[in-house]
Amino acid sequence: MTANFQVGGHVSAAGGLYRAIERAVEKEMETLQIFVSAPQTWRATKHTDADIEKFRQAHAESGLGEVWIHNIYLANLATETDEQLEKSVGSVINAMQIAERIGAAGVVLHTGSHKGQGIEAVLEQVVGAIKRILDEAPGEAVLALETMAGQGGAIGTYFEELGAIIGEVKSPRLKTCLDTAHTFAAGYAIHTPEGLDEAMAEFDRHIGLDLLAVVHANDSKIALGGFRDRHENIGDGHIGTAGFEAMAAHPAFQGNAFELEVPGIPTEEKPKGDGPDIENVRRLKAIRDSATPAGGKSTKAKQAAAKA
Ligand SMILES: [Zn+2]
Ligand SMILES: [Zn+2]
Repeated sequence: MTANFQVGGHVSAAGGLYRAIERAVEKEMETLQIFVSAPQTWRATKHTDADIEKFRQAHAESGLGEVWIHNIYLANLATETDEQLEKSVGSVINAMQIAERIGAAGVVLHTGSHKGQGIEAVLEQVVGAIKRILDEAPGEAVLALETMAGQGGAIGTYFEELGAIIGEVKSPRLKTCLDTAHTFAAGYAIHTPEGLDEAMAEFDRHIGLDLLAVVHANDSKIALGGFRDRHENIGDGHIGTAGFEAMAAHPAFQGNAFELEVPGIPTEEKPKGDGPDIENVRRLKAIRDSATPAGGKSTKAKQAAAKA
């Protein structure tokens, strides 16, 4: 049996949402992530019913798996101003409503920044904001709070921060996105089997492995515990091929979508890379397909058995 996570990545939806499906197919992806609005602006892009239908049809015909939407980057549910909070909540409601319309699995969100005050100082506001979002965007789409690298007091640097929010909101639609580069930079040693096992046991304690909804699969230009966010191509960073092999063999990740957000392999035309490309897709698939996972979602006993 081979490991069974799906390999995909972030693709552009320029020229119409359905174009993202074409790009994902060209790159041999099995799942994809998109923006449904320009990530650096508050103004929401309008999507007509015809656009949505075209996307749904292209997705159905493609055979691709889960679609994830990444929320715009400007949102900060822990902001100090009412105006910014309203805009932030509005942006997530918009993305969640579009997720529902296009049949996406859900929306990935950078929860915000407590600016060094600690999660307790902003917990009530963040919890209230998420409850409003889920109320105003009913349906099945999941809101996945992303793990962060720890720059600027980002909420989600530590698993217990996301666990505290999830424990207060108490909705089956609130889950998490684990970004491998962020979590590694935040000090979790997921690049070795032992470190990964420890990290995922901690994830299970604070959040629950069943609430891991999606993975951002990125290698890291930043060393362990460097608290900065710089993605690297699969195998070329501090997590390395061996790190992704450990994840492929780990039961915590079975069944999840792995979305690449890597810079891409440099070429003559694109010296800085072209984002998640076919080469990174193939690297991650090769790692997955050669791994023998320990099945199931409970960790320690099976890992020990596998090593014996
Ligand atoms: Zn993100
Ligand atoms: Zn990042």
